[in-house]
Amino acid sequence: MFTLNNLLRPHILSLTPYSSARDEYTGKVGVFLDANENPLGSTTNAGDYNRYPDPHQLAIKQKLAPIKGVRTEQIFLGNGSDEPIDLLVRATCTPGKDNILIMPPTYGMYEVSAAVNDVEIIKVPLTPDFQVDVDAVLAAITEQTKLIWLCSPNNPSGNLLHTDAIRTILEAADHSLVIVDEAYIDFADTPSWTTELDNYPNLVVLQTFSKAWGLAALRLGMCFASEELIQILNKIKPPYNISAPTQMLALEALTHEAEKDEMVTKILADRQKLAQNLRSLPSVQVVHPSDANFLLVQFDDAKNVFEHLIERQVIVRDRSKVKLCDGCLRISVGTEPENERLLDVLRQMNNTPVSDDLPLGSGEEATRPELVSNA
Ligand SMILES: *Cc1c(COP(=O)(O)O)cnc(C)c1O
Repeated sequence: MFTLNNLLRPHILSLTPYSSARDEYTGKVGVFLDANENPLGSTTNAGDYNRYPDPHQLAIKQKLAPIKGVRTEQIFLGNGSDEPIDLLVRATCTPGKDNILIMPPTYGMYEVSAAVNDVEIIKVPLTPDFQVDVDAVLAAITEQTKLIWLCSPNNPSGNLLHTDAIRTILEAADHSLVIVDEAYIDFADTPSWTTELDNYPNLVVLQTFSKAWGLAALRLGMCFASEELIQILNKIKPPYNISAPTQMLALEALTHEAEKDEMVTKILADRQKLAQNLRSLPSVQVVHPSDANFLLVQFDDAKNVFEHLIERQVIVRDRSKVKLCDGCLRISVGTEPENERLLDVLRQMNNTPVSDDLPLGSGEEATRPELVSNA
């Protein structure tokens, strides 16, 4: 039977968390002389930021809970998904003793967070069609396996992992946390695993405002889990981990869920079109099926294609050296003109006719994005 206390590092259980000024007095009205803030204001005309933000982001959680169908007590908000990823490792894994299990090819941060904390990493590759090798996973779990990372839809392959496989692992791994990273769930045609939180005390679901909500710059990640685990994460997080501007903007964004859905619909239609166009190119071997906002595409000569694209200021992610991704580039679905530009550069490479509306090498320079996505 799963018992959270057996999973946590012993000192985490007995730890006394930092108690912030905003924890000790939660009223809104009064003369606030308790947090050593600047009473005069801020050195910016962009607003007043001299007061510390709500350490528990209650306003966001109250708006988010009904949208996600969970209780506010089941929500942890982090500085990106990176923060809960790291906190989960630190809460459960004793360095040099415990381990985590990942299924490559997958998101790089699980491995990095474990490595930073000197925690051993067990790797059980996905099958060639990017599904969970359930028997191999179950055989690889040890007494010391504290975290099992699943990414669905998976980055970089783009596909959902089969529900049955995840369920089998949730039920078998009863002394580990099973984390389902759903960064791309809004693009998938399937319910979130948040619907199963009350059935599996060892289930953790990660989502993010960085993808479908279009708020990558704000750095806001969501973690859904049992109330007990959320309390532990709250206990070990930095007290003011979500800035006031991020809280304000996220709160406002949550009143625009319909616009998020519209953008998702548009991106899905464009993904379909892009996949079809890519499949018609002679240099493309495989466009892997995607449940996300990107495509994993296998080329005859990925390295060459990647470099040709870079020269034309079209930047994609080279995944050709990644396990099971031989010859693959990962391509985000862009705007229609961006997707057309990508296709034109690829067609030109294939010496097939280039469409007229976006001439290449005719003096019209594409501008390189200033912010390079690091996902
Ligand atoms: C993009 C992405 C995230 C989001 O990370 P943030 O830190 O919230 O921006 C999380 N997991 C996966 C698999 C991703 O691809």
